[in-house]
Amino acid sequence: MGRYEAGQKPALFILVAVPVPSLDLLTYAVPEGVATPSVGARVVVSLGTRVVTGIVVEVNVGRGEAAAGIKPIRELLDVGAFVPPDVVALARWTAEYYAAGVGDAIPALLPPMARGGRADAHKTTRVAAITAAGIEALDVARGVQSRERAITAKQREALELLAGTPTGLATPALAARGIAADAISRLARRGYLSLRQDRLDRDPFAGTDGGQTGVRRGSDPGPDPRLTPIDRQLTGEQAGALDRLTTLAAAREFRVALLHGVTGSGKTEIYIRLSAQIRTSGRRVLMLVPEIALTPAAASLFRQAFGERVAIQHSGLSDGERHDQWQRIRRGDIDIVVGTRSAVFAPLEHVGLIVVDEEHDGSYKQEESPRYNGRDVAIVRAQRAGALVVLGSATPSMESYHNAMTGKYERVVLERRVLDRPLASVSIVDMREAYAAEGPDVILSRTLREGLQTRLERNEQSLVLLNRRGFATAVFCRQCAGTIDCPNCSVSLVVHGEGSAKRARCHYCNYTARVPAACPLCAGPYLEQAGFGTERVEAEVRKACPDARVARLDRDAIRKRGALASLLSRFRDGAIDVLVGTQMIAKGHDFPRVTLVGVVSADVGLGLADFRASERTFQLLTQVAGRAGRGEQLGEAIVQTLYPDHYSIQLACRQDFPAFYERELQFRRAMRYPPMISLVNAVVRSRTFAGAMDDAADIVEKVQQCDAGLRILGPAPAPLGKLRGEYRAQLLIKGMNRKKIREALQSALATRPELQRRVVVDVDPMSVL
Ligand code: ADP
Ligand code: ZN
Repeated sequence: MGRYEAGQKPALFILVAVPVPSLDLLTYAVPEGVATPSVGARVVVSLGTRVVTGIVVEVNVGRGEAAAGIKPIRELLDVGAFVPPDVVALARWTAEYYAAGVGDAIPALLPPMARGGRADAHKTTRVAAITAAGIEALDVARGVQSRERAITAKQREALELLAGTPTGLATPALAARGIAADAISRLARRGYLSLRQDRLDRDPFAGTDGGQTGVRRGSDPGPDPRLTPIDRQLTGEQAGALDRLTTLAAAREFRVALLHGVTGSGKTEIYIRLSAQIRTSGRRVLMLVPEIALTPAAASLFRQAFGERVAIQHSGLSDGERHDQWQRIRRGDIDIVVGTRSAVFAPLEHVGLIVVDEEHDGSYKQEESPRYNGRDVAIVRAQRAGALVVLGSATPSMESYHNAMTGKYERVVLERRVLDRPLASVSIVDMREAYAAEGPDVILSRTLREGLQTRLERNEQSLVLLNRRGFATAVFCRQCAGTIDCPNCSVSLVVHGEGSAKRARCHYCNYTARVPAACPLCAGPYLEQAGFGTERVEAEVRKACPDARVARLDRDAIRKRGALASLLSRFRDGAIDVLVGTQMIAKGHDFPRVTLVGVVSADVGLGLADFRASERTFQLLTQVAGRAGRGEQLGEAIVQTLYPDHYSIQLACRQDFPAFYERELQFRRAMRYPPMISLVNAVVRSRTFAGAMDDAADIVEKVQQCDAGLRILGPAPAPLGKLRGEYRAQLLIKGMNRKKIREALQSALATRPELQRRVVVDVDPMSVL
């Protein structure tokens, strides 16, 4: 520990990463007499008028007299590495690969409240969340010259941070990013953010809202079928797969294996046994899952098998929990970390195995800077650690499957469900025929209604999927054909609720309005609702099956803390007959009493202008069909669609992954999309449409000057042409070499520093909407 005193000569220079968006490494001087810090140590530095805690990334970048502009550090919090040096290096790689500032990658490395080195022991924490008024203020601030701004730069920064995390951020977390308490209370007084008090459950395995759906509590202590002993007999296929993976792990070298196992083939069991072996060999395991609450109680199963030496890491935990778990991992008290994408940066040493379950899942991609894919960072981490990576999925991504087919990855296959349970039988309902037979307003076809009724009589459960929220997806005027659109975004407002609770809402910026009685454009009195979402489907199911106990699972239904876990456990306990929901109901759940899955509009995603539209549709349909028939009874899926001949629907219904892969690869090859080439998406934001297009055109020209070999699509208006009051233009850069694309783009942007803040660069995008 040391503190700089004025007048001292600097002894050496260090590079520091500070948790400030889009900042690169900064050079500071360590004064003479202060210990030499290690890479990974925390250091307090001044940055403009602010004081922030950063991480030492490089030491000894030269010695000498204080150079002009290089400040001494204020305080060294650790002499040794607080964050392990290999994790610091991983974050640096991530920032570079994904064209982000190193500062963007820092928050993922630090436990919450690491600023002062001492854990906050309070029982509650204050959480700030942005309000609609705050979003509006931010929109205004983004487009206005600094002198006319209604909020200060610091307040704007706070709002930018909060806009990225609508559920809110704990005030200590904000403080760690340099947002002081007075800035927060000033914003709260103006109504731009709301403050609430959240409890700190320090043990994420206690309490009922950690998403531990596999653990029963309270009045029902019955055994959970999932919590099976580790000595259960493996199926022949499982044993074969485990053997293969064991051999790979024993080599103690970097390897990637794709575990391609159909839904219900018992992949979790393999992860657990492989982890046990790694542990016996003295190494540690990182187990990544897309969303802890939506994955079948992965953490509980690991806890069951490995007891105290398991930690969980994900954003749903309170700061206190996360802090404690992080410290235990860092101290070496933990052998297995189960977590969501940011857990790839867990301070775990001697990593021998990284499992990425449901590797195809879009949740592995972070949709804010750094826009990293947790799966791909996991592979890089394993490469550096000489570890085995197991990518598990029933529907692998095109990229991973391609790597397996070309021999880059090992392919390990589970073709059958455990106990030889058959996959669900799938039938397609052509909705054009249903409309002809029952009229244009039918939402649940006769086949699906009868299917639900039969399950009800047999006391079995059903899932009904529609990947679209709300009651009606648009309101339009019969007189002028106008729709009621969001004032900030180029989308129509979605109607939520019925009767007096009816509101129109934007799914992108949360703008809400009353549904007017007359058309705001022509005053015509005939406003009609069009399109339908999960809320409407829920109402239709109630109408079709008046005796059924029906519930809905989508983002709106689980806003309250604990609502998700409670819904899932009520469904598991049989207190719900039919669960209606979005893709959330398709994710990894294991509900043995579900025998019917209905898909209301299988083609919802197919119309999107995204090269992954077919892949996503195929994955969603295969995964949701995979939720049926996991118990003793046979499963059935009924798929309603307007495009019964589309290959992604046809092949998902036949559950024929290899055929889908071949067909989709033809498309990717012909149109030059990943995995055949590398892709970088750049979106330019501007106050005006012309401004966005002009700036995008300028970038295209400069990129092309740098590297004439790159193919560029655009500039074009982005599919979501206006978002939160800003116009968006897009350019897609294609090339064989990602590094060349990034370099050309970065040198193009370097000529327009003022533009950089308005350009979002997405390397290996999951979605180009
Ligand atoms: P996947 O992740 O591949 O879809 P799970 O790992 O969820 O499949 O396993 C499906 C179900 O089969 C679970 O209920 C699990 O407990 C059970 N299971 C797994 N392996 C076996 C086995 N060898 N014998 C009996 N049941 C098993
Ligand atoms: Zn909007």
